[in-house]
Amino acid sequence: MGQARLRGTTEQRKAAAIDRQLALRPKFITCNNCQAQLTDMSPMDIAGLDGIQAAFTAHCPACGHDTYAIKGEREAVARLHMAIEDNVGAEAKAGVVPAANRPDPAA
Ligand SMILES: [Zn+2]
Repeated sequence: MGQARLRGTTEQRKAAAIDRQLALRPKFITCNNCQAQLTDMSPMDIAGLDGIQAAFTAHCPACGHDTYAIKGEREAVARLHMAIEDNVGAEAKAGVVPAANRPDPAA
């Protein structure tokens, strides 16, 4: 008694988050550079990112471009998009999965 029950290690939480993300995985990401359909994508670590439901990165073997697919609340997606650009430079273009790509009627 008296021992705190851990709810899982950081690694376990991360794995659970990735599992949740995989459920939201788009069928493909369209390369922002050459419009190839990329089905090989990796989930990004979105732990601690409020409003982000899923984020994937796909590397295009045809042109070498990295395209990102980010799903979540509009503002959070924009913020992550900017963070990625800061990280990898202005050449990176974040893509958006089709489900998150609907025009906002309130805008
Ligand atoms: Zn490409």
